[in-house]
Amino acid sequence: MAFPTLASVAVGRPVRGEFTYLVPDALVGRLTPGQRVLVPFGRARTLAFYLGPAAQPPAGVTQLKAIEKVLDPDPVLPEDLLPLLRFAAEHYRYPLGEAIRSALPPGLSGAEEPREAKGSLVHFAVALPGADPPALARAPSQHAALTYLLAVGGRAQLDEVGAAIPGAREALKKLAQRGWVRFESVEVRPGVQAGLEQRRPERLTPEQGVAVAALQEALEAGGFHPFLLHGVTGSGKTEVYLRVVERALELGRGGLVLVPEIALTPQLVGRFRSRFGDRVAVLHSGLKDRERLRDWQALRRGDVRLAVGVRSAVFAPVRGLGVVVVDEEHDSSFKQEEKLRYHARDLAVVRAKQAGALVVLGSATPSLETLENARRGRYRKLLLRTRVDDRPMPEVSLVDLRVTRPRDATVVEEPPILSEPLIEALGETLERGQQAILFLNRRGHSTFLLCEVCGESVRCTECDVCLTHHLSSRKAMCHYCGYEGPVPEACASCGGPLLKLGTGTERVEAEVAARFARARVARLDRDSATTTERLTDLLAAFARREVDVLVGTQMVAKGHDFPGVTLVCVVLADTSLALPDFRAAERTFQLLTQVGGRAGRGADKGRVLVQTYNPDSEPVRRVLAADFDGFSTRELERRKALAYPPFTRMVAFRVEGANPDQTGQVARWLGDRMAARLPPASSGVRLLGPAPAPIARIKGKSRWQLLLKGPTHASLAGPVSAAEALLPELPSAVKVIIDVDPGAML
Ligand code: ADP
Ligand code: ZN
Repeated sequence: MAFPTLASVAVGRPVRGEFTYLVPDALVGRLTPGQRVLVPFGRARTLAFYLGPAAQPPAGVTQLKAIEKVLDPDPVLPEDLLPLLRFAAEHYRYPLGEAIRSALPPGLSGAEEPREAKGSLVHFAVALPGADPPALARAPSQHAALTYLLAVGGRAQLDEVGAAIPGAREALKKLAQRGWVRFESVEVRPGVQAGLEQRRPERLTPEQGVAVAALQEALEAGGFHPFLLHGVTGSGKTEVYLRVVERALELGRGGLVLVPEIALTPQLVGRFRSRFGDRVAVLHSGLKDRERLRDWQALRRGDVRLAVGVRSAVFAPVRGLGVVVVDEEHDSSFKQEEKLRYHARDLAVVRAKQAGALVVLGSATPSLETLENARRGRYRKLLLRTRVDDRPMPEVSLVDLRVTRPRDATVVEEPPILSEPLIEALGETLERGQQAILFLNRRGHSTFLLCEVCGESVRCTECDVCLTHHLSSRKAMCHYCGYEGPVPEACASCGGPLLKLGTGTERVEAEVAARFARARVARLDRDSATTTERLTDLLAAFARREVDVLVGTQMVAKGHDFPGVTLVCVVLADTSLALPDFRAAERTFQLLTQVGGRAGRGADKGRVLVQTYNPDSEPVRRVLAADFDGFSTRELERRKALAYPPFTRMVAFRVEGANPDQTGQVARWLGDRMAARLPPASSGVRLLGPAPAPIARIKGKSRWQLLLKGPTHASLAGPVSAAEALLPELPSAVKVIIDVDPGAML
């Protein structure tokens, strides 16, 4: 053939597009899509990914360079992930090579030689039959160690016993010499402990049965089938996922389960572990590089066919994908807010489509996007309307803060945080030996410090927000840039005394502890759960009922299943309502429903108290009436009228720079030119802004926004490309970030 062999590659650099290279004779026939290669690029050599043969060089290019080296004999990237990453790069306007790199585990995302990662060994002590603690009266540490071991079920990690009982390691060795204890070392995939053994329920509820049958049937039929599993809190959605995944594995296919945050849902992961043992790879953000690489390789080889993980697991190299599950599909953590700004739920659907697989989007409060897809018949909807064992849904009641709060204009004081009805309900709950959750979506003690004389508040010097007062660490902190400093004694501008206003979780915790001296109170937020271990410990202590009242941020609202909880109190429903975001009502409804859903999951009936200044707001009223359909119908109408998603596609342009004047100028310059390049109004494409972002400054950077709206993504492609073409003309001190299908609008 006259034509030389050509290859299309994506370079691992922040440049858009695919590049054509020559394939040297030595490499002909040795290239497979997804392989890492080295290519000359500019004046350097760089890592690149082979995508496939190229038909002809791009027009105008006369001199092609050659691929220098192939880095792996087998492609690191399975071929079926390439189309997904191509889609992601194009849809989210991100360089393909960088997108591929971000999907790969460390160790493969650079130009390193591939290496095999090893698992780590974990040591257990196991009590043997005949072990008799009373016989150890004269050996107190052996007695303590053995008693502990038996109390936790006869088997525990050495580290755990060692941490619980001083001198346990020596004691266990002596117990082993007596023949009462045996040691075991197991190679584990770390991440989540095996958890308690969870029985596979013998029978499904009738609704579960219908859902499982429909899903298994679709799975067996093969091909792309998208489903929405809309099940109220406590309806047993997890069991549905487990059964479908079970069937997929039986059919020799792979499974992928995406969850919002693993550390917050140890129970869900524990259930997958207890059902599938070592056949599941748990991929979470806390994994060490080595562990991540090992899991990737195990999946890649097909040794493990099932992956459970957070959003980045949507790129996990599961073989022969049969089913993809997205649990709590409405959760905003599925949207990545940096670099490749993808939405893992949306990519999960694309991946399932490309792979010809089943996809199940599950939630008690589906996103309006997913709901609209179901309404249009794109997704099949499965409903679980009742809780397992016919447990009643919790009863929701309202505490109208407008009337219960005492008014006295002469006293500058905040209304009490805990209303009388709340105190009464909490008292009753504790009296009965049951547990309660108090939810407030603001951490710290006081959310702002205000001068009593001049009204000035203490603000971050780098961000356009007030500092939060944290009592336990005695600091004033900025929740946007992480600034921490001493709490000012007096107002910086007039020297007046500072009032500590606006309640955070720390203050709620203190108030509950002061009111109920005998109650065991704990707090769950980013300040108390500083590490995954602390978080897991806190949740475990609450599950073991060593804590009576758990106060926390939205971390308490996730999918927890604590049967002892009969009371959930929303300390202030208004915090998320007031956010300047078109999703504020939806988020509020979801949060209140989800946190309320933690109540009454055991034998005892649950109740939910919502404290608010806005009892008539749509989300609050609908949560009270447990009326998801009513809420979503109204909210969809509103979105349609205001041209917001899911009826409109959006692309946000965020303009950021250190100099406020320059940033504003650049935003206006960009806005003018984008407006001039818009298609005619009949296309439905509109440009909003430029306007300063709701938080106009973060980390010293001024922030402006432009928003493109259009009926379809296709209608926006031209205007976005036109805007991109303008970016090289901007001063380098100002950065423009393109965010397709933006999540938070702050
Ligand atoms: P959801 O995710 O829908 O809120 P879960 O999956 O957490 O609900 O299920 C709630 C509880 O019911 C869990 O403790 C689970 O083990 C239990 N459960 C689920 N299905 C069944 C069943 N068919 N029989 C008995 N218990 C079940
Ligand atoms: Zn700040």
